Amino acid sequence: MVIVTGGTGYIGSHTCVELINNGFEVVILDNLSNSHESMLDAIEELSGKRPTFYKVDIDDSDQLAAVFEKIGSKAESVIHFAAKKAVGESVQEPLEYYRNNLDSLINILVEMGRHQIQNLVFSSSCTVYGQPDVCPVTEETPRKEAESPYGNTKSICEDIIRDTSKAQSLNAISLRYFNPIGAHESAKIGELPIGVPNNLVPYVTQTAAGIRKELTIFGDDYVTDDGTCIRDYIHVVDLAKAHLQALRKLEAATSESSYDIFNIGTGKGSSVLDVVKAFETATGVSINYKLGPKREGDITAVYADTTKANTQLNWKAQLGLEESLKSSWNWEQNYRSRNT
Ligand code: NAD
Ligand code: UDP
Repeated sequence: MVIVTGGTGYIGSHTCVELINNGFEVVILDNLSNSHESMLDAIEELSGKRPTFYKVDIDDSDQLAAVFEKIGSKAESVIHFAAKKAVGESVQEPLEYYRNNLDSLINILVEMGRHQIQNLVFSSSCTVYGQPDVCPVTEETPRKEAESPYGNTKSICEDIIRDTSKAQSLNAISLRYFNPIGAHESAKIGELPIGVPNNLVPYVTQTAAGIRKELTIFGDDYVTDDGTCIRDYIHVVDLAKAHLQALRKLEAATSESSYDIFNIGTGKGSSVLDVVKAFETATGVSINYKLGPKREGDITAVYADTTKANTQLNWKAQLGLEESLKSSWNWEQNYRSRNT
């Protein structure tokens, strides 16, 4: 059995579908602060099995302990997605972010120790690299000081896991995600940004759908080929599959304790203008956009060297930018048609 925290969220729900379809028994813990219980219906529809669900605040140690009393003895592994993730909000409410994201991880590690659960996959982020001096980044590329409290929680969580793996029986993997986009091919699960999206791809799909008047491209004089920022956009289903491979690696481990880190991206950098063009090509819908000022805190370019994940996790991204954007568009349209 695998416990999936944050399993009704965007990346968690896609991962639960992959896990169940590959024979894992899944138990989801989520407080629904940024997701909906209806995700359980969609996961059931796509996998043929409804995961057991506990509505629980993972940053509340008593609540979590009570849930682990019920399920802890049956679990072999935990995938820990649950976290607050809005960069801007974390600047406004740093304590809320440190409390939620750090306490949740610490509580999970305490319960794993208590119930002798040895395997942990943790959601980290390429934000830990900041603006790297050289691209692509490998796992050896030095981390930089975080641009936001959110980013800092990811660096601190990585350190907490590393240190804990030296002190208790724990085999752990941090996956450093690059920019997750896209949705399941069924268009039944996807990303549900609340309010005006901060991220590029939901803003693009909402502009295409006529919900936003126009996309503003943040900065066109960066030192890149077309002047716009470069990121590594990874399809969420490929990302979900990386968790499966990480789990398999951990469950096959013979050591008492270990800690490892993997970049999970495509290895390809795409500019903001590349994304707009790829969306237009993939969907046939044009995007109304204007060039605007830079967004504070944005870095010029980051993309992954994925050699380590390719060789040691036996994982490689399969889906390209156009396929990813097409799936985002299908999800946007399907979601709007059901909710308007
Ligand atoms: P999401 O918000 O869709 O999912 C996170 C889930 O965690 C939500 O369902 C939320 O209700 C739950 N949650 C948050 N705090 C909780 C708590 N205290 N107790 C119980 N449940 C709680 O986010 P996502 O995009 O699926 O991200 C999943 C993980 O991946 C997060 O750790 C995030 O920081 C990390 N990550 C995301 C991205 C991205 O761009 N989406 C990039 C890098 C890393
Ligand atoms: N971006 C943009 N307009 C938007 C949102 C994002 O030009 O409305 C750019 C942003 O400046 C960055 C890229 O798109 O270069 C990806 O931003 P996102 O917020 O999706 O991810 P980040 O890499 O910042 O986590």
